Amino acid sequence: MKRVLVTGAGGFIGSHLVSYLKKRGYWVRGVDIKYPEFSETDADEFEILDLRRWDNCLQATRNVDEVYALAADMGGMGFISSHHAQILYNNALINFHTLEASRINGVKRYLFTSSACVYNEELQREANIRPLKEEDAYPAMPQDAYGWEKLISERLCIHYREEYGMQTRIVRFHNIFGEKGTWEGGREKAPAALCRKIAIAKLTGNPEVEIWGDGEQTRSFCYISDCIEGIYRLMQSDYPEPLNLGQDRMVTINQLADIIAEIAGIKIIKKHVNGPQGVRGRNSDNTRLREVLGWEPQVSLEEGLRVTYQWIEEQVRKKLESQKVLSTAK
Ligand code: NAD
Repeated sequence: MKRVLVTGAGGFIGSHLVSYLKKRGYWVRGVDIKYPEFSETDADEFEILDLRRWDNCLQATRNVDEVYALAADMGGMGFISSHHAQILYNNALINFHTLEASRINGVKRYLFTSSACVYNEELQREANIRPLKEEDAYPAMPQDAYGWEKLISERLCIHYREEYGMQTRIVRFHNIFGEKGTWEGGREKAPAALCRKIAIAKLTGNPEVEIWGDGEQTRSFCYISDCIEGIYRLMQSDYPEPLNLGQDRMVTINQLADIIAEIAGIKIIKKHVNGPQGVRGRNSDNTRLREVLGWEPQVSLEEGLRVTYQWIEEQVRKKLESQKVLSTAK
């Protein structure tokens, strides 16, 4: 039985990945600084370890064949645009130590989870933007410290393969969303934040929903089950360069809100307020993804949002009931 480590296994993508790998028959160790918030872990072993520390990385990577490196200090635009020092410091320590400890412990395959935030900000100044190809990361000009750290950790993975022969894989996610992800507290991303706001609008009867900026900024959004399938396929492949993983259907944030409101079955009034928006436009060019994996994400935005919205509405309902904003009487 192959033994794998998933770091960040207490987080959104990590907890889904652990369940997927267990179903495929792997022995899985999960590591994080916290347990999964929304369900029990399926991991065979789960260790609470701070991976900024070298000794903890040595412990985490012992006796495994493969490592899926997902641990990161991260969040949505609100968090990323206001914690540059913390993000760069923490994530550089996590990724440098995890990769080197994996080498020392003889790990054969290593998958690093990078981000579309590595792309050159100059190419993302318009809402109606050309989709980003993998080579668009250079010349380097990411918008935030989060993207700079991802780019330098990508480089480290490439050099470890070239100089130490370690099989490293690098995936660049484009806005992954789904159930059992952070939906409140300041680290949530746009799809979860909008699902929460629209669920509150529905349950309280106040149709006003705040949107950061004019809402005309564009993104593509990829559902969690496609993300997990793509990660797994890339790990099995022999492709060593960074690869986009996302949907290539671009929508505005206003359109995203409209789709969610329709799923919720309510009419909303959008209130545009000041807030961090990130780059103006971003989309994934999936040409190489299709070539390399012979596959691309399958779940439509509407299908993915339907499941995500139902789950978030349930969380919001429980919270409002506990705060006595809603009556628990049926
Ligand atoms: P997440 O925040 O839900 O999961 C990250 C996990 O890392 C958290 O559970 C957190 O507790 C853990 N962590 C943080 N600091 C740690 C430390 N010092 N030691 C050990 N664990 C630590 O985020 P996610 O959405 O599941 O993201 C997983 C990976 O994918 C991250 O590397 C992230 O940067 C990358 N990514 C995600 C997206 C997305 O849309 N969700 C987009 C691009 C890249």
